[in-house]
Amino acid sequence: MSIKANWSYPTAIRFGAGRISEIADACKTAGISKPLLVTDRGLASMEITTKTLDLLEAAGLGRAMFSDVDPNPNEKNAEAGVKAYREGGHDGVIAFGGGSGLDLGKLVAFMAGQTRPLWDFEDIGDWWTRADADAIAPIVAVPTTAGTGSEVGRASVITNSETQQKKIIFHPKFLPTVVICDPELTVGMPGFITAGTGLDAFAHCVEAFCSPHYHPMSQGIALEGMRLVKDYLPRAFAVGTDLEARAHMMSAAMMGATAFQKGLGAIHALSHPIGAMYHTHHGTTNAVCMPAVLQFNKPAITDVIGQAAKYLDIAGGFDGFCGFVDDLNASLGIPKNLTAMGIENPDVDRIVAGALIDPSTGGNPIEMTQENTTKLLMACI
Ligand SMILES: [Zn+2]
Repeated sequence: MSIKANWSYPTAIRFGAGRISEIADACKTAGISKPLLVTDRGLASMEITTKTLDLLEAAGLGRAMFSDVDPNPNEKNAEAGVKAYREGGHDGVIAFGGGSGLDLGKLVAFMAGQTRPLWDFEDIGDWWTRADADAIAPIVAVPTTAGTGSEVGRASVITNSETQQKKIIFHPKFLPTVVICDPELTVGMPGFITAGTGLDAFAHCVEAFCSPHYHPMSQGIALEGMRLVKDYLPRAFAVGTDLEARAHMMSAAMMGATAFQKGLGAIHALSHPIGAMYHTHHGTTNAVCMPAVLQFNKPAITDVIGQAAKYLDIAGGFDGFCGFVDDLNASLGIPKNLTAMGIENPDVDRIVAGALIDPSTGGNPIEMTQENTTKLLMACI
């Protein structure tokens, strides 16, 4: 089965195997004639990246790349990226990669024309209105994993390297003008990244679905996103070259990020400080925390998870769903808890403090306090 489609929701999406060949045309559509491709160090030398640069060069768009990007990108990476962008005289960004390359690429496009410092634009209240919207450069996004969904997101997660806190920078114009979703770019992902990123998409869908805010559109998207993960993540994990499974996982990733406009919750509230402090993989950390968070939220989500279980053809309502999550994690090699993940003697107070001020906390169906969040974290450890 080969899937090819053009969508205009939530932005212009060119979906299908081999469509990276349209990268130069996508730049043209976005009004970019001298792009800076931003990706992470790991991807910089990989064939999918050099081939993309070849396509750009052949079309007369140059082959400029910035790849000094850490796995959890920080403000130093952003500063260096903006410098490269300005010195190169670029007029737009190709954000290329997993969450790190996508988020930093979007941030470079955002910051390239701003005069205020980065932290002035943190996602607090209406600080995003401090930005000069006209100075934000156009973005073409090319995901090479299937999980973050950042290619259709309006925010960028960036670590403050001084405080070791993950911060969210938000602006509506972070939404890329054009997205190329080419499942062939994801076939080379190692199994543990396929699992971790796929389960990040799953966590986005589950948390959005359980968040108490009113947003029926997100509810529908989250539910079908869960189904795609359930049916296709095990296949993509087992046979990396299964293009149909890879394609459906790319959709699930975008659906998770579209759905979580409704809200996230305790999984992300915990995983953001843990990732910032211990440099763990974001999606894998979420997967490790999910079973304990489901139990934590049980009094508020028994019914809604019961509905999801019905749709997903999982017997046993809430408990059946939790059993499914445990089995899925085990089958994908996810560690049982944070200790098994290699975090020894974590700083409980600091993680809890970070979780309580994380913007995801507001979407959790049960109010998170110092006391109950400490208990929850202990259950994850
Ligand atoms: Zn996430």
